[in-house]
Amino acid sequence: MTKRELYEKVYDILDKVTPLKSDCGELCDKACCKSPDEDAGMYLFPGEEVMYSDAPSWLKIELSDFTYGNNKPVLIAICSDKRQRELRPLACRIFPLTPYMNHNRAMSIIMDPRAVPMCPLARQPVSYPLDEDFVDAVSKAFRLLAKDKEILSFISAVSGLIDEQERLLNLFAPGYNKNRGKKQRGAIRRKRY
Ligand code: SF4
Repeated sequence: MTKRELYEKVYDILDKVTPLKSDCGELCDKACCKSPDEDAGMYLFPGEEVMYSDAPSWLKIELSDFTYGNNKPVLIAICSDKRQRELRPLACRIFPLTPYMNHNRAMSIIMDPRAVPMCPLARQPVSYPLDEDFVDAVSKAFRLLAKDKEILSFISAVSGLIDEQERLLNLFAPGYNKNRGKKQRGAIRRKRY
């Protein structure tokens, strides 16, 4: 399967699902789509740029400082407020979830601690449980994506960022884990690939 076919398939799996059945943007005024920093964006997964070969005018794709594997640069997608929702990148489709690989290289889908500063669903997962269909679709998408070695290598690098963010949250927001409830601390859906 080419990268384009792979990403078309996972975009399709994630097309009709959202984190809540209701519009979660009403809880936060769409905080994840608004950033005071003009250069803030979302990392593209390896090869995902094929989905933007005719780059729409609302999207800039740039090299980020983040690397994975053997020093491969990661691209970042920066949107303007004229974005088309149906063309949003994978990282936006799965937010506030993320794939995470532990030290034994077992992958699971977890609530992304990098989402905590902006996303009420990540801060209060017990008050706002994610829609099961959304979690299932994200798990299904990553069962497919995990067959690609380059994508696995990227997820491994991202997992290092997640560990660092967890460490910072535990240091500077000591109530963070206490308020999240036992069930929501670890993997939402632990799956091995
Ligand atoms: S920040 Fe969280 S709650 Fe707000 S729109 Fe994004 S996913 Fe939904």
